[in-house]
Amino acid sequence: MADCLFCKIARKEIPAKLVHEDDDVVAFEDLNPQAPVHVLVVPKKHVPSLNDLVAEDDALAGKLFRVAARVARERGVAEPGWRAVVNVGREGGQLVFHVHLHCLGGRPMFWPPG
Ligand code: AMP
Ligand code: ZN
Repeated sequence: MADCLFCKIARKEIPAKLVHEDDDVVAFEDLNPQAPVHVLVVPKKHVPSLNDLVAEDDALAGKLFRVAARVARERGVAEPGWRAVVNVGREGGQLVFHVHLHCLGGRPMFWPPG
């Protein structure tokens, strides 16, 4: 998508601190981190939100989690634990409408979320 922030980051048209890239996915540091570890895992394919996933995205959706777990391991938060978050839509707190998985860790997480 020409005008999408995360498509532009995936195409390297906007700089970001990339921590992972492969054919399907990029992962980069969140600009406004909410925890000592805050990495966004983003498919290169433009999918606006989880509401828009289709069957052909099943493997891609799974890969977001696997890459997030790898980032968590590399950052040393696999133990004691971390949080995977996907905000969906306006009331879900989604601000960027290109699906992304937040990998958050390095401090205790709380429940219920705000
Ligand atoms: P969400 O509210 O789930 O849509 O999350 C959007 C996230 O993108 C927020 O945590 C922002 O801090 C982050 N963000 C916005 N712009 C950038 C950017 N240029 N580079 C990295 N992260 C960004
Ligand atoms: Zn996009």
